[in-house]
Amino acid sequence: MEEKTIQIAGSITVDELSQALGLSVTDLIGTLFKNGIVATINQRLDFETASIIIDELGLDNVKLERKNTSTKTSEIRRELSDKAVTRPPVVAVMGHVDHGKTTLLDTLLNKKTVDDEAGGITQHISAYQLKHDDRLITFLDTPGHEAFAAIRQHGAMLTDIVVIVVAADDGVKPQTVEAINFAKSANAKIIVAINKIDREGADIQRTMADLSNHGLQPEEWGGDIVMVPISAKMNQNLDKLLDMILLTADIEELKADIDIPAEGLVIESHMETGKGSVVNLLVTGGELKTGEFIVAGSTYGKVRTMLDWKGKPKGKATPSTPVTITGFKELPNFGDRFTEVKDEKTARKMALINAQNIANESASANVTSSDLLRMMNVADNSKVFNVIIKGDVLGSVTSVVDSLKMIDTKGEVTLNIVSTGVGDINENDVYMAAGGNTVVYGFNVSVPINISKMAARDGVAIRTYRVIYELLDDAKHEMENLLDAEIVEEDKGEMKVLGVFRTEKTSIIAGGEVLKGDVKPGFLARVVRDKQYLGEAEVTSVQKEKIDVKELTAGETGGLALKTTSKIDLQINDRLKFFTRESRKRTL
Ligand code: GDP
Repeated sequence: MEEKTIQIAGSITVDELSQALGLSVTDLIGTLFKNGIVATINQRLDFETASIIIDELGLDNVKLERKNTSTKTSEIRRELSDKAVTRPPVVAVMGHVDHGKTTLLDTLLNKKTVDDEAGGITQHISAYQLKHDDRLITFLDTPGHEAFAAIRQHGAMLTDIVVIVVAADDGVKPQTVEAINFAKSANAKIIVAINKIDREGADIQRTMADLSNHGLQPEEWGGDIVMVPISAKMNQNLDKLLDMILLTADIEELKADIDIPAEGLVIESHMETGKGSVVNLLVTGGELKTGEFIVAGSTYGKVRTMLDWKGKPKGKATPSTPVTITGFKELPNFGDRFTEVKDEKTARKMALINAQNIANESASANVTSSDLLRMMNVADNSKVFNVIIKGDVLGSVTSVVDSLKMIDTKGEVTLNIVSTGVGDINENDVYMAAGGNTVVYGFNVSVPINISKMAARDGVAIRTYRVIYELLDDAKHEMENLLDAEIVEEDKGEMKVLGVFRTEKTSIIAGGEVLKGDVKPGFLARVVRDKQYLGEAEVTSVQKEKIDVKELTAGETGGLALKTTSKIDLQINDRLKFFTRESRKRTL
């Protein structure tokens, strides 16, 4: 058969696909119908659905390819000109919870924020700058690596250097490994800060060995990773850490052009009464000034006010500078790239084009593969976990959604995000969740009293969190509850039947010798005669010399009372093979 390649950009209509396959529209609609999809000729199918359908049709000669039509500005990486100037490094501090990320940033910035943080976990991505040796370093405070993953998903690279904080008295932990993986996949340079060296249990060498087992070879041992022992709390060796950051920046020759239209990334956005949209940006190229027009995704605005990270007005922001601006017409998305344009008309036009591109890329598919999979397993409806996500700012909503999507259920539970939004939980959320076995999650938002009453009345679960990991744990737990339990059987022992005293329809009384293991009340038994399986029974009591005992062990003889569901004609020399059976809840 002739090989055929079909390119799909985002989605394809039933009509287009049938033409590309050389198949009649009716045949294709028929196949879709067999798979539970009632489609019209103009219905759009996403890439995965099209692949599944081609599979169903048995068309082995057809290959589907994703056509990359993305024109998202975020994916355009600018080539530097020879006029590019040195810029400060952008550094993210990551690591396991409680290993000292916040304390490190605090001590560095001499700013007290640890106390008012919910649960000790930094919630929003925000950025700070500090000076060392008269040179600037930009620090990003991370709400969890999910936010970075989200930014990466949007195609942009945000961090030059990742400082991984590892407590010397605790060693490498799951989130340390996550941070290492993140830094590697983002192509960022890694510097390890071995923290809490003032603590009694601190062991720098052991921590280094632990890290090298996780692929980070210390420079001291001939590897390529700089590891600086510090005490964030006692302000010990932090200058050395900053020296190393600047040295790494020098080696990387971090540069940016400044005589180009300003550009950068949206790192946080929310609405404020009286101010409208308040957006944190990280400038990555050019110089951003108040009064300029900028576009980010499908929204645009004129920079009305611009503040530095300390809240002081700033007239001009150069590359690697974080600023907070007002003036966007609508909230841009976290991770969106922004660009400066010459006037309002251009800004409006570009925002419109971007909006259309975004719509074409994703929302255009009416049928997505998850719909299809869901329809294929209609009986499995119980395995869909429906959620509504509300957050205080777009950044946290994106983080929560992206992190939820990362919970791996090995395809057993489908996460269905019913809706997302910024702001307190409202009537509409409860309305949407009612009757649909849906959990409404709120992140850093509140639930007005009338809304919680309404939810209680309608049996809707509303759960609010201020710490992302707790929200994720809850969601994971919910998804685990949807998993089928696992049946675990364990062999316990074996008895040779030496005497049968009574066999009735549902009970047996017999005696014998325990050949191996032991037997206790509650054990199950398979009755076997010459390798032939006769049935299953449950041990209800165990006796030794006519007295009830807790168990009989190998070598002992005694009597058993057994319960059966149908009559088993037990005979001398039959074997009883004891085992236990547990239905265990599975975890993800
Ligand atoms: P994060 O969750 O990684 O941001 O960790 P925190 O900065 O909130 O620190 C967790 C706990 O460890 C706090 O009680 C800190 O006071 C403590 N801590 C952080 N750094 C050090 C350090 O260098 N030495 C000691 N002894 N305690 C530290």
